[in-house]
Amino acid sequence: MSGNVLVINSGSSSMKYQVVDAESGTASATGLVERIGGPGGRVRHSTIDGIHDYGCEVADHAAAMQAMTDAFTEHGPDLVALDLLAVGHRVVQGGARFGRSVLIDDRVVSIIEDLAGLAPLHNPANLAGIAVARAQFPHLPQVVVFDTAFHLTMPEHAYTYALDKQVAAEHRIRRYGFHGTSHAFVSRQAAAMLGAEPAQVNVIVLHLGNGASACAVRGGISVDTSMGLTPLEGLVMGTRSGDLDPAVVLHLLRSTELGVDDIDALLNKRSGVFGLSGRQDMRDLEQAVADGDTDAATALEVYCYRLRKYIGAYTAALGRVDAIAFTAGVGENSAVVRALTLQDLGVLGIELDPVANESPGKTAREISTADSAVKVFVIPTNEEWEIARETAEVIAESYGS
Ligand code: ADP
Repeated sequence: MSGNVLVINSGSSSMKYQVVDAESGTASATGLVERIGGPGGRVRHSTIDGIHDYGCEVADHAAAMQAMTDAFTEHGPDLVALDLLAVGHRVVQGGARFGRSVLIDDRVVSIIEDLAGLAPLHNPANLAGIAVARAQFPHLPQVVVFDTAFHLTMPEHAYTYALDKQVAAEHRIRRYGFHGTSHAFVSRQAAAMLGAEPAQVNVIVLHLGNGASACAVRGGISVDTSMGLTPLEGLVMGTRSGDLDPAVVLHLLRSTELGVDDIDALLNKRSGVFGLSGRQDMRDLEQAVADGDTDAATALEVYCYRLRKYIGAYTAALGRVDAIAFTAGVGENSAVVRALTLQDLGVLGIELDPVANESPGKTAREISTADSAVKVFVIPTNEEWEIARETAEVIAESYGS
């Protein structure tokens, strides 16, 4: 279904938005309202005519919504003329409840509220955006697209932690996975680049941004992913540790003064490549390695080695791999990470073409050799387009096209 969708990604202190044509992916406006609830509020509104960047008091999410609509009124495009089909909202945690996107109503809102215990930092902030958008656009249907939904197809053996069954059930402890919109979008693109339908191919997607996750996609369906109950599990990230022995937490609790919140902050904000080297941004890390910084070199090796292990694990999980797709800020831009990660993986049928890997580009491209049994792709992700597409699909099913 075609039509413009207003995509909203509401966080606790920022609200990102984009008007996207669901069919073509063309964005007629993108923007960000930041520092909600604090001093120094700002709006950054981009259209084909240019970028409008200015300070603006943003006391709360209602004020952020007002700032967004004011930006459209003052700088265009005209929201009425865009003839919006719907509003599509990103929600981080859909639990075991939502295996796909849904039309918002009060019942859906209360289920998302109930799931806030699993994502205390994210779901309430996502809901704040939903509440103000419903008030601002009461005449438009609104749809929630969950980060977790794509992974609800994981088989029980992949999503189950080997914990006491009752405790796990009582507290809804299982693996959920995140970045679902990106993994769905990129795995579909990868199938297209293989000249096949998604149902015919197996793909490993490596979404490497500030947060990072790997996903094993069999026939268009997620069968495993590296993030778990929360986005902390799995790969080494900018500031998150990824996998570690859970006893590390117990050891810290017993042998230091650190409390639960301190350890939460340590693992989520002060670990990963930042914890190892003092640098969070992959560009800075690569520069430091080039300058001979040994901590930075260790951080890069740990980061890439973890990735290699997941590629091996997901090759075993899938049995046959047709392609590996790198995406997001690091995956799309860091030839160094791609090369180090795939080095000497000929045993798995993966042969990187060094020249293609080093060639800069902004579009989807193949970077493996002609002989490589497993194709390697760089595929720019587009989560907003995926949310717009999903939203339009739900609208078509609910109201007819
Ligand atoms: P987010 O998870 O915040 O959406 P992005 O997907 O935008 O993150 O990725 C951000 C990361 O991408 C940055 O932290 C940076 O490390 C990395 N990055 C961006 N450009 C480059 C580049 N040219 N080379 C290496 N890494 C890059």
